[in-house]
Amino acid sequence: MPDTRLLDDLDREAEAFAEASEREHYLNGSGQKDTLDLAPIYERHARLFARETLDALAQADHTDERFPELRRLALEGFLEKSASAITDEIALRETQDTIAWDGEQVPYRSVAPMVRNEPDPHRRHALERALVEATAAQNPLRERRWDALYAQARALGYPHYRAMIEDVGRLDIGALCALVSRFLRETERTYRTQLARHLRAANIDPAQAEKSDLAFVLRQSQFDRYFAAETLVDVYQRTVAALALSPEAQARITLDVERRPKKSPRAFCAVPRIPDEVYLVISPQGGEYDYGAMFHEGGHAQHFAHTDATLPFALRGLGDNSVTEGFAFVVEHIMASPEWLEQYVFMHDPTDYLAMQRFSRLYMFRRYAAKLLYESELHAAADVRGRQKRYADLLTAATGVRYAPEDYLADVDDAYYAARYLRAWIFDAQVRALLRERFGAAWHESPEAGALLASWWAHGQRYDAPALLAQMGLGGLDIAPLMRELLDSAA
Ligand SMILES: [Zn+2]
Repeated sequence: MPDTRLLDDLDREAEAFAEASEREHYLNGSGQKDTLDLAPIYERHARLFARETLDALAQADHTDERFPELRRLALEGFLEKSASAITDEIALRETQDTIAWDGEQVPYRSVAPMVRNEPDPHRRHALERALVEATAAQNPLRERRWDALYAQARALGYPHYRAMIEDVGRLDIGALCALVSRFLRETERTYRTQLARHLRAANIDPAQAEKSDLAFVLRQSQFDRYFAAETLVDVYQRTVAALALSPEAQARITLDVERRPKKSPRAFCAVPRIPDEVYLVISPQGGEYDYGAMFHEGGHAQHFAHTDATLPFALRGLGDNSVTEGFAFVVEHIMASPEWLEQYVFMHDPTDYLAMQRFSRLYMFRRYAAKLLYESELHAAADVRGRQKRYADLLTAATGVRYAPEDYLADVDDAYYAARYLRAWIFDAQVRALLRERFGAAWHESPEAGALLASWWAHGQRYDAPALLAQMGLGGLDIAPLMRELLDSAA
């Protein structure tokens, strides 16, 4: 019998750490606590992220199901700790930097929503330019942060950061790049046709279009009248009720709808204890985007509230986030069903809305595909510097709108999170195709579909997305259902 004490201890400690940090995020994000004090929580659980723990893990039983996820947590935390001073400095700059606009100083983080909402193209471009220049001035900090992370990856014996994340994150970046490259090729013509049509409809010349122009087009405010703030919670609850999910699981989800001045305007889900303590936090604003966020976060809440409590924490709270993101998209995309739109928000002819939805998802997938291709090269190099042009070229080619070279590090998440989203979108389309096939187009009204979803949710994050798809009888990641859905009644 292998000695499991180290993994038992780390699993318990990881659970306590996650409970404390999720609770802190909940209290701060819901406006019940002014500050987000994560440093003392990291301090209390410093052992999880210590070099000695990484070394001890090398001797642990690698065949134990908990091992890969506990090692990933330890390693990613160890890496982040080595860069935390620079991370804090970047966050401080992002909080304190301002941009001069219309005789006022606008906080750096408020500029992106202003860009999206600016109808005058000249003003929009000027504002975006000012934002990009502020980002460029912060970039030396971002370069130093990647220096620190890359150095740690090499010190741990990996040739580069990409090899390290592929190993501990159990990701095959090369295979995913091949999959998304095929998607980019096969959707190119349809995407370009739709892009030109949507831009022209907003009086924007496709040849001159920038990223900010597309952000403006995708705001889709013309559909907001169907999505009233007052009915948001009721529509969500009636939608979930139609799936006849277990009342026990619903009782574990606390719907936090109370108005508080400092509450996050965007819906979010926080889970201090899986499955017993799940918060779904909402400040109903109304609009299509708000409904999408509520359904997405509701999907996370359902997934975790149905997770089998007897699994070790590593298989409930850690694991492949493509799975929880995938299920969040499954619930969010109930809103892509014409039956649902008619019945719940009284949209009698959803043709234009659905065309816009599909175009928006096509853009997002192509944008993330380009991000992955870019990051696959970036993180295999020794230094991030000098990659500005490559970033702009890849993103501009995939999206058909001009991206700024200066965003070449601000647009990069740690540990290939872009790969988790790409896998989640592929997973979501496969799962909904299966549900439609078994239960019909209105599967979201079927208690049997609800029971099947609940049986998958019970696994928590024990299996990664390809393994869970295999269990569903779908073989593994297959990009065809997503491609079919997004190219449906195209152009
Ligand atoms: Zn999510």
